[in-house]
Amino acid sequence: MRYIEPHGHMVSRVTDDYIDMVTAGCQAVCEPAFWAGFDRSSADGFYDYFCQLTEHEPKRAAKFGLPHYTWLCINPKESENVALAQEVIGLIPKFLDRPTVLGIGEIGLNKNSRNEMKVLEMHVDLAARENQLILVHTPHLEDKLKGTRLILDVLKADKRIRPERCIIDHVEEHTVQMVLDEGFWAGMTLYPESKCTAARAVDMVEMYGNERIWMNSACDWGVSVPLAVPYAGLEMRRRGYSAETIDRLIYQNPARFLGQSPKFKLPKS
Ligand SMILES: [Zn+2]
Repeated sequence: MRYIEPHGHMVSRVTDDYIDMVTAGCQAVCEPAFWAGFDRSSADGFYDYFCQLTEHEPKRAAKFGLPHYTWLCINPKESENVALAQEVIGLIPKFLDRPTVLGIGEIGLNKNSRNEMKVLEMHVDLAARENQLILVHTPHLEDKLKGTRLILDVLKADKRIRPERCIIDHVEEHTVQMVLDEGFWAGMTLYPESKCTAARAVDMVEMYGNERIWMNSACDWGVSVPLAVPYAGLEMRRRGYSAETIDRLIYQNPARFLGQSPKFKLPKS
């Protein structure tokens, strides 16, 4: 089974995870900038992180023949300090030309605070000015519905942003419809404890179709499973889906969205 991991925080994983992913059929992994497991104290910390994402992590993945791509931003969890966020956002343009950078992400909201909103708007403006794809993190638990609404409103208010070039990640049953209705892509994050299980994700595909949807593992510092996407493929196989339908959801769909960046290339299969 071939698949793409469109959202994996590989800097938090051990090298054995790369071996397991490639063995399971992973064709490319994409790593949005996120939290490092601790709050960084200065913009210098982010500079080093952006170097890690654009220089060092692609080399670690390449040892197993796996293309590694990335997205850059200061994540919402660390964007309460607007002055720091401004400094970090100022660093991003010089990294955007690097060959594996696909866009701005994962931006969005964590606690839906006023400062997070300001930083979100700054990122959206940067993406618009630089003509970049956008990957959005939506808040968890009870704040998700409100946060998703706020994020969609910010994106729609900027007329330079085209919804088909934005993916709204971590959707659940109560947010997937509004994301798709407004022309955006929706990402379902498969987590063993929170977010969404494989069975729930496949239920959502059955209800809302598989046009502009992808699945990811997000594999990060929390309890998470780097093979969650192929496991969801197995859940689809158990339900009697054809190999072509499974391939479309876990390989062709992410390839279609990510392929909007001319930098995104897959190994010939
Ligand atoms: Zn993430």
